[in-house]
Amino acid sequence: MHDGIFDSLIRNAFDFLGRSIDDLQAHPKYSVINFYSAVELLLKARLLKEHWSLIVAKPDEADKAKFLRGDFKSVALDEANKRLAKIVGDGLTDDELKCFNGLRKERNQMVHFAHAALGDGDEARKEMERIVSDHAKGWLHLRRLLTGRWVKHFEEYAGSIGDMDYRMREQTKALEPKFLLLTDVIADAERAGCHFMECPSCRFNSFEVGKPVWVGVGKCLTCGFSSPVITLECVDEDCGRPILLTESRESCPVCNHDYDPEEVDSVLDEHKKIRETHYQDPGDFNRVDCGMCDGYETVVCLDTDEWFCTDCFDIEEHVGQCEWCSDYSTHMPQDTFLSGCGRCEGRLGHEKDD
Ligand SMILES: [Zn+2]
Ligand SMILES: [Zn+2]
Ligand SMILES: [Zn+2]
Ligand SMILES: [Zn+2]
Repeated sequence: MHDGIFDSLIRNAFDFLGRSIDDLQAHPKYSVINFYSAVELLLKARLLKEHWSLIVAKPDEADKAKFLRGDFKSVALDEANKRLAKIVGDGLTDDELKCFNGLRKERNQMVHFAHAALGDGDEARKEMERIVSDHAKGWLHLRRLLTGRWVKHFEEYAGSIGDMDYRMREQTKALEPKFLLLTDVIADAERAGCHFMECPSCRFNSFEVGKPVWVGVGKCLTCGFSSPVITLECVDEDCGRPILLTESRESCPVCNHDYDPEEVDSVLDEHKKIRETHYQDPGDFNRVDCGMCDGYETVVCLDTDEWFCTDCFDIEEHVGQCEWCSDYSTHMPQDTFLSGCGRCEGRLGHEKDD
């Protein structure tokens, strides 16, 4: 159904991404505008896979003939994400939404105000570095969606995605002068015990993390990218290289070994990163549900007393207990006795059943 429209949305998205790269130096304004257009098109393509009317701003007034002619107002980012989450069951993570919203705001600023990225001055250089960093991060999130959680809808486009990845990496090399200025800072920090690995977004060796095995939020000094990660030595016996994962379903960048939440869990367990519990301890639970990704018992309590989801990598300080079904979870909502949690419908749901 609508394979032709799906295909043209994706071709257009890649066309805009290509234009964004071509225009960066001479027309940064169009680079920013085109990049965000690509983001929206790819989200719409995912909605289209569910139902064509989800792309239309008001689905209850959707008119198929008008849709096929392209005569409709399309859904905006926040609403698109709500539909992805609630209707399709395949929504964006908080980090993805935040990143795409940032690109949207930047696009709007470019449309309405003059920009500072043109010229030779210091301000122009900083602005250009910011745009390159933002596009690297935006592409990281897009690529992870298209080749990860949404792969079954986009696998036909693996070739185009690979080509675009190469071009984006080439573009990100523009940050090298900034990275080189940081080499002394990084060397000093290393002498003081800090540890740096390759940044998942800009690829420079300036992503501050803990030595493997470590769970926490890494931050890049070059491009500003930050993300919860696990650092580990690859479990593949022939590889064993120090790597980092920003998602549980990523593959090793060296040997392509595919990871999953169970494997992340067992790496943490093996390296004694999970809090020891005792059967007489009233809080004797070491696996609880994740309120962020809805994972069942995917959250472990780390030796640092933080709660870490081995599926979506959400890190939380607290877990809550449902007052109706007694289930434990991160992000427990309010008024669980009445309205329930992710696993139950609370007293109101119970009464409805009677
Ligand atoms: Zn970086
Ligand atoms: Zn490996
Ligand atoms: Zn999760
Ligand atoms: Zn409950």
